[in-house]
Amino acid sequence: MTAPIVHRSIGDLRTALKPARMAGKRIAMVPTMGALHDGHLSLVERAREEADRIVVSIFVNPTQFAPHEDFDAYPRNEGKDLELLRDHGVEAAFIPSVREMYPDGFATGVTVGGPSEGLESAFRPHFFDGVALVVTKLLLAALPDVAIFGEKDYQQLCVVRRMVRDLNIPTEIIGAPTVREPDGLAMSSRNVYLSPDERETATSLPAVLRKAIERLGQGEDAHDVLPLSRQELEERGFKVDYLELRDGETLGPVTEDTQSRRILVAVWLGKTRLIDNMAA
Ligand code: AMP
Repeated sequence: MTAPIVHRSIGDLRTALKPARMAGKRIAMVPTMGALHDGHLSLVERAREEADRIVVSIFVNPTQFAPHEDFDAYPRNEGKDLELLRDHGVEAAFIPSVREMYPDGFATGVTVGGPSEGLESAFRPHFFDGVALVVTKLLLAALPDVAIFGEKDYQQLCVVRRMVRDLNIPTEIIGAPTVREPDGLAMSSRNVYLSPDERETATSLPAVLRKAIERLGQGEDAHDVLPLSRQELEERGFKVDYLELRDGETLGPVTEDTQSRRILVAVWLGKTRLIDNMAA
């Protein structure tokens, strides 16, 4: 397979995609921050079902990191990422510089309400402004017919869906299931931060979620189940940012009208923050 063509400017990407668009081909975009793993590659596979041309973007977006967060330390490995994309038959990679995305004088923001409220926002207040801004820019740069996002970042998926609807961005948003390690831990570029001991402990995060879901399924009240799950996580050494049951569509509180429920969690294990979620 041939290596993907790397586009580093928005103009270059648009020029490259134009013939495919003119020929009526469907274009799919998979936005990522790189350090690709099988979770990302499952999105590529999903994109392949949807489109003739795939663009994977790799951009560690500074506007979604707070000053004290891991922007500088975030794993970056462009060479290996491009090899993986080549092996998966991806035709194009969009790898802009920070300056290309945010040139001097940049002064615009995108704020989404609704599903962005609470959960991550309670702990990372600027996170979804950064995500909404960069996703808007990426979608407007490539103008894909579809874009694939992982359920791993479930609140992000809901925010992107809301934003695309609200702003009439002509891209269909598709959510793809979370890919897990054999022991159940959700794959994440940040898992490399875990020490061997922490990595072993991390396996109990999905296990605790599954146990909570089982008890909820048996009709136990969330107000009884969630505090116990939280306590179990704390006893195992996690520091819990949040553990909540929400409406799976709106991410608001569960009501009589709720069609699907989602349990969402964010924890710290040492210096590493892990998030996960499951249908409940
Ligand atoms: P990131 O590079 O972490 O910003 O993630 C890029 C995209 O890959 C997002 O849509 C994530 O939700 C998705 N993703 C990350 N990890 C996984 C996973 N384990 N399974 C499925 N999708 C994932």
